[in-house]
Amino acid sequence: MISFDDDLNQRLAALREQGLQRELRRVDSAPGPRIEIGGNIFLNFSSNDYLGLANHPALKEAAIKAIEKFGAGAGASRLICGSLAPFHELEESLAAFKKTEAALTFATGYAAALGTITALVGKDDIIILDKLVHACIVDAAKLSGAKLRIFDHNDLNDLETILKWAGKNLQPPASNLQRRKRVLIVTESLFSMDGDAAPLREIVALKEKYGAWLMVDEAHGTGIIGEQGRGLANELGVSAKIEIQMGTLGKALGASGGYICGSRALIGFLVNRARSFIFSTAPVPAAAAAAIAGIQLAQSSEGEARRKHLRRHVQFVGLNCFSPANPRLPMSPPTNCCSAILPLIIGEETKAVAAAASLRKQNIFVPAIRYPTVARGAARLRITLTSAHTETDVSELASALAHLKSEIPNLNSP
Ligand SMILES: *Cc1c(COP(=O)(O)O)cnc(C)c1O
Repeated sequence: MISFDDDLNQRLAALREQGLQRELRRVDSAPGPRIEIGGNIFLNFSSNDYLGLANHPALKEAAIKAIEKFGAGAGASRLICGSLAPFHELEESLAAFKKTEAALTFATGYAAALGTITALVGKDDIIILDKLVHACIVDAAKLSGAKLRIFDHNDLNDLETILKWAGKNLQPPASNLQRRKRVLIVTESLFSMDGDAAPLREIVALKEKYGAWLMVDEAHGTGIIGEQGRGLANELGVSAKIEIQMGTLGKALGASGGYICGSRALIGFLVNRARSFIFSTAPVPAAAAAAIAGIQLAQSSEGEARRKHLRRHVQFVGLNCFSPANPRLPMSPPTNCCSAILPLIIGEETKAVAAAASLRKQNIFVPAIRYPTVARGAARLRITLTSAHTETDVSELASALAHLKSEIPNLNSP
């Protein structure tokens, strides 16, 4: 019989052959535009800390103060041990930020998706996902047991076809004891691996037409887009029509944790039914305190200045580093805004790994994103820019990419 370790080693070898093996790289510095790996300094274009807040003095000070007052650990889940004040303050500032009645925070965005979706729908219901939604939403949908349907990325016709099909499955209950099936649509606002935006206005119109619910994951929109960084739903004026607004505190907001914003009914229900909230120790209070400071900063004039600076970088890289065959239009209407994610699509996994290795030789750190994060054959360099980068940093990236293109021909032709 094959031993446990031999079994796993064989499976790892298979991943390696397909260019799919992943390894942890130890970083010996704070996460920022420059990181230290193995004694070398790299320019870092891999972080989702888009506004450069993770290492901001205001966030660090807030975290330190919270540790001094509330300690390092929370001790138990919030329903068991009493719910520490920083979580309540955070939820109040999130609700104010997103202009919803209430908010609930989770240990991570992943936990927020898992707990919320499995609480809202079950085996008698229907869940409809954009093809490119994040793994945590796919996992949650599967775990919920609801009937799962996928629509082509941002394809409104495909979504409507599925909604019509769902409508046929929504016959009025045969008896008063049966309830109507629920239909939940889930999409992202700015997509994590492609950086493009969902047509939220049109999706809202469709879900209203067919009586479905809508959940939007703003993991990459919050802090980046919308008035004071409130997100794409705010930018497009549809937040009040979205039943469930989700996001993470660990990206542009610079801290850690996940959130759900919505009605008081939604939050009250999740406190009772979201298993990843109920059966998990509360996060460290320092994370909540840092997130509060992150939300304040995102809404301040400093936050606005950081967004402007970031937008300039995105425009520069978009115009200088992407071939006409693979254009990026960062300031594309109607949102007049952009994500900070610039995917350089390569295709073959091994080629993407080689490209990332070649950039590392030039002391530029950009991750090769491969299956299962993206589809097979859609491997890419996922370049993320932050407001903490300088103009020089971004020019260095541009010349490294130009060098890469001469080294690897047809790098980003479609
Ligand atoms: C990162 C991410 C999450 C998960 O958030 P965490 O706080 O990192 O667990 C969820 N959705 C999307 C789109 C993400 O990019």
